[in-house]
Amino acid sequence: VGFSGADIKNLVNEAALLAGRKNKKHVEMEDFEEARDKIQLGSVREEKIEENDKKIIAYHESGHTLVARLLPGTDTLQKVTIIPRGRALGATEQVPDTERHNLSRSYLLNRITVLLGGRAAEKLVFGDLTSGASNDLKTATHLAREMVCQWGMSEKLGPVSFPVGENHPFLGREMAQERNFSEYTAKRIDEEIQNIIEAAENRASDLLEQERKRLDTLAEALLERELLEAGEIESLLDFKQEDDE
Ligand code: ZN
Repeated sequence: VGFSGADIKNLVNEAALLAGRKNKKHVEMEDFEEARDKIQLGSVREEKIEENDKKIIAYHESGHTLVARLLPGTDTLQKVTIIPRGRALGATEQVPDTERHNLSRSYLLNRITVLLGGRAAEKLVFGDLTSGASNDLKTATHLAREMVCQWGMSEKLGPVSFPVGENHPFLGREMAQERNFSEYTAKRIDEEIQNIIEAAENRASDLLEQERKRLDTLAEALLERELLEAGEIESLLDFKQEDDE
């Protein structure tokens, strides 16, 4: 998913290296998967994480996972883990079902809701927030800004494009001279971004509150096993029985 030719070469080399380290004669699928995780998420960190922090991370990742599973049309869940890698303390991996070239408004809103699911879970369970959610918030805000300013997806501002330096969505005030729209419009843009983020966070919170039992089940399993594959997530959440009833 989203690998260039050079990435694939890198992936094959990394997989061969990992297989070699395990004295295998052939590179197996699990070596490729391990190599992909290493490239995408960084190496596994050996540091010890406090039990309480681990619990927060488990709920945070479970929040992303459960919201992703509950919302229609989101990318398929691959796995969720609380094994720290690179700079991340945990990860929820999703793969797009098809190559997406055009992103619909509802897909993007769901994506933002999934991003805020981690934060919403922390708030719901611990009544507090950690800095662990800051990257999610940054990504969510960036997407919301693109929706409003580039893709004309805001109902209030309509189908207009506001060029605000595509590569520098966070420069804000410094960009004022280069903007060709008024302070009033800038304020409305900011308000609209905030509305999108707040609505998504409320939606994530509502979903997790309704599905609190499943959130607990998932977080507990994640604390115990540290990594859950798609199949395990599915059987833990056990939606099938409900569908059959
Ligand atoms: Zn997160």
